[in-house]
Amino acid sequence: MLGQMMTSALTIQSLVDHAARYHAETEVYSVNTGGGVEETTWGQVGANSHRLGHALTKLGLEPQARCGTIAWNNRRHLEIYFGVSGAGLVCHTINPRLFPEQLIYIINHADDKVLFIDATFVPLVAAIRDKLPNLKHIVLMEGRDEKAAAAIEELVFYDELIAECDASFEWPDFDENTASSLCYTSGTTGNPKGVLYSHRSTVLHALASNLTDCIGYSALDVVLPVVPMFHVNAWGTPYACAMTGARMVMPGPGLDGASLVALIDTYKVTTALGVPTIWLGLLGEAEKAESKLASLTRTVIGGSACPPSMITAFREKYNVDTIHAWGMTEMSPLGSSNQPLAKHLDLPIEEQHKLRENQGRPPWGVELKVVDEDGADLPNDAEAQGDLMVRGHWILDSYFLKTRDETLDNGWFHTGDVATLDPDGYLSIKDRSKDIIKSGGEWISSVDLENIAIGHPQLADAAVIGATHEKWDERPILIAVAADGYSPSETDVLAIFEGKIAKWQIPDCVVFTDVLPRNATGKVLKRNLREEFGNVLMG
Ligand code: AMP
Repeated sequence: MLGQMMTSALTIQSLVDHAARYHAETEVYSVNTGGGVEETTWGQVGANSHRLGHALTKLGLEPQARCGTIAWNNRRHLEIYFGVSGAGLVCHTINPRLFPEQLIYIINHADDKVLFIDATFVPLVAAIRDKLPNLKHIVLMEGRDEKAAAAIEELVFYDELIAECDASFEWPDFDENTASSLCYTSGTTGNPKGVLYSHRSTVLHALASNLTDCIGYSALDVVLPVVPMFHVNAWGTPYACAMTGARMVMPGPGLDGASLVALIDTYKVTTALGVPTIWLGLLGEAEKAESKLASLTRTVIGGSACPPSMITAFREKYNVDTIHAWGMTEMSPLGSSNQPLAKHLDLPIEEQHKLRENQGRPPWGVELKVVDEDGADLPNDAEAQGDLMVRGHWILDSYFLKTRDETLDNGWFHTGDVATLDPDGYLSIKDRSKDIIKSGGEWISSVDLENIAIGHPQLADAAVIGATHEKWDERPILIAVAADGYSPSETDVLAIFEGKIAKWQIPDCVVFTDVLPRNATGKVLKRNLREEFGNVLMG
């Protein structure tokens, strides 16, 4: 017997329609690419999403045609998220920091028919235009701009495109499993791979993000997604905020500490999300500007391990709670977030603080397990380290244009991370499996060592790699960037590890460098570091 309840498809357009209907006056602030802040509302974002859906329908694109974006976090990008998916097309966000050859590969692989671009990226797109044979329409996310029009022949203008279109345009009907958006992994080896999200997976991901013990946005929040909309859909913030009617502050191109502090203070941001490197800049700038970040109650930090010293700085200097979260492009991205359980509240405060440092536990909808080299399950005892596997409602089933068999292992996805899980499901990421250091048969977590090193007051940045060693196979070495105006000695730097980890885990040496190589999403390219410094212990 079936239940006798209404069903309707879980669709992305239902999120913006809800926001426009019940939070019509709620503000969305948006930093324009050319400067200045525009104030709009969920009501207007909703209306423009419909107009855009209408405009795209008039172009006569095939259902699920891919529409690429190369753009900052701003109001028009938000409308594109909803308008494209709502019209039954696929919103393909592209990372502008990729090399031109990678951009060409991705746009052609996705078979993008439309490309929405911010003014910043006109030269970039003009330079590769002749290598994109399938692309039919290029839309500048602005009003008319003659200079840009001269650079790209067929350029059309977003504001003109939607001006004549209908805000009461009706979304087409389709199944909730229809593809909605596409995002490529930032892969450090080989070609990037596409992850094709569905309407259903995106809505369920938003619903779970909104659980109080996950992130839990509220209509009382002012949310600043510093994490770019071209990086796993800004961790799903546009969808989750539309679902709750949270106010949003879209930071545009200025992601430096000073711009972010100004936005937080001016628009009274309560919740900000981003990767650790962004917050390093922000913390430095807040101190300089003597800002108390008074409105900010929490930051959500993920994308790479959040150093404990950063969590402490936010708490002690600004009274800001940090939610450390973990995930991947393949997971929409949310896999876990660190929030306390009732039993933790009885612990001494120092222990409670310590518990906030790991990557947290999965919300409903995600299952995690760790396995050994033979694929056998390891216990959730906070000790056994193994390969982390995941499955759930918003985890990919197969990469774009690939099969399930090429992607999954017995229905589970290999994350490529090495981790432990405790009995409550708290996850501690030790490394990417290819980065873990194998010293004389023992494993050393480069992440643990980096977390300690970055707490050194005279270091600005730090990475640990395994260097080849005659006796131990590999030994950890620290690649360090000194903070401005400092030149600490090797002994000075290594002293920070004493008493914090076992002696045999302390790096063998420190190599100072000017800057760490990073990929397009800000992750340290350890492969490059291994190529450059991997033999320093071989004499
Ligand atoms: P991406 O798909 O580019 O978001 O990269 C996903 C990878 O980033 C994960 O597999 C992890 O290795 C790493 N990562 C993401 N969040 C965290 C975190 N909180 N701590 C440690 N590593 C993380």
